[in-house]
Amino acid sequence: MTRRTWAEIDIRQIKNNYTLYKAQLYENQEIMAVVKADAYGHGDVQVARALQELGAKRFAVSNIDEAIKLREGGVDGEILIFGYTPPDSVDSLIKYDITQAIYSEEYARAISSQDKRIKAHIAVDTGMNRIGFSTEGDSLRTIEECRRKLCVTGVFTHLCSADSDDGASVRFTKGQIERFGAFLKTSAQDLGTVHYLNSAGGLRYNDGASALVRLGINLYGLRHNYGIPLPEGIKPALTWKSVVSMVKDVGAGDYIGYGLSYKAPRNMRVATVPVGYADGYSRMLSNRGKVQIRGKSASVVGRVCMDQFMVDVTDVPGAAFLDEVTLLGDFYTADDMASDLGTIGYEVVCGISKRVPRVYK
Ligand SMILES: *Cc1c(COP(=O)(O)O)cnc(C)c1O
Repeated sequence: MTRRTWAEIDIRQIKNNYTLYKAQLYENQEIMAVVKADAYGHGDVQVARALQELGAKRFAVSNIDEAIKLREGGVDGEILIFGYTPPDSVDSLIKYDITQAIYSEEYARAISSQDKRIKAHIAVDTGMNRIGFSTEGDSLRTIEECRRKLCVTGVFTHLCSADSDDGASVRFTKGQIERFGAFLKTSAQDLGTVHYLNSAGGLRYNDGASALVRLGINLYGLRHNYGIPLPEGIKPALTWKSVVSMVKDVGAGDYIGYGLSYKAPRNMRVATVPVGYADGYSRMLSNRGKVQIRGKSASVVGRVCMDQFMVDVTDVPGAAFLDEVTLLGDFYTADDMASDLGTIGYEVVCGISKRVPRVYK
């Protein structure tokens, strides 16, 4: 059976990205594979199991449903939840042997009041102001209490500007790392595995003191910053495809699509693609995006609809019904699309909806 649209995931490329990234780390440094949001749209169980074959023993997700899905999908090793888990889900944390981030005094109390010794990593806020214990005040006392009630196996902070190389960001990031180090020194407690690097940090701020890198975006071959090159050979692993559902001639002066947003400046040939914003093909690509057909570029004309959009194939000789259409690929990566949309590659790949089947090769 053929498909309307699908995303091809090159698992071998994800494995290559993992290996290439790992090659530039210190010898004892590990990778915690960040597979939240369905592995940034690439398929969490498939990605985690493939990395397990390479020896990966630590995984991270954003919530308990993702964590349980991994366990039930046959993923062993540590699974860390970075964010909020409802305190009444503590039994599931125990049942599935999942490690929970503990990030505030209130949250620590809510989780530990139930006398269940869940595994926990302590989250420390070194300047992002999202979640985490403050490096000032009496955080250490609360953390000490956590250690008595929970099984604390790690401590981490998050660098929120490691992907920018302007002077202010570099100073800020170095300050975060210093603040984290100083905070750990004031604590006589053994908090277990210390970690603070994400993809960008692991390339640019790796002083060897972080036991592991929490590797997300670079695992999928996308950039944390368009200006900064990735290690040689790290490449995107996702290609998004569809087919031409109709081709037609449009006369000069005719309109294309909703809202009369495009008026044909000349006689044109136009192809319809059966993909729309309900598939995660952003409506912001109206009159802006491009696809590839028969090896040639074709621009989006008119507004992207919920389930379809149109492209100009006047300069794609022979373009025909059922031709393969590439929406994302080497010619136009998720980072390229993100740059046209004024966002980041992360949002593009996470936004490819569940209506688009993932096909593995
Ligand atoms: C998402 C996330 C990461 C991974 O970040 P990348 O930039 O994708 O490498 C690391 N740590 C935390 C806490 C995160 O939320």
